[in-house]
Amino acid sequence: MNSNKNKCPICGGRKIKGTTLYSVDLEGCLVIVRNVAAEICNQCGEEWLDNETARELERITDKAIANRHQVEIITM
Ligand SMILES: [Zn+2]
Repeated sequence: MNSNKNKCPICGGRKIKGTTLYSVDLEGCLVIVRNVAAEICNQCGEEWLDNETARELERITDKAIANRHQVEIITM
């Protein structure tokens, strides 16, 4: 009963597993994370991260800010 799970809520396209580039610019600290696991719509390109991945990105960002790095580039 979960046939909509892999359906894009925006365009109705199909979500497929892939990787994406995450970047954030916070408090003078630019964080770039490559090879982030995500589900990506094959039609409109919208991306979804799972909770665990989002938490990991938050940890990476917090750490970079705490270390006062201007640029942090990480590959997951
Ligand atoms: Zn879509």
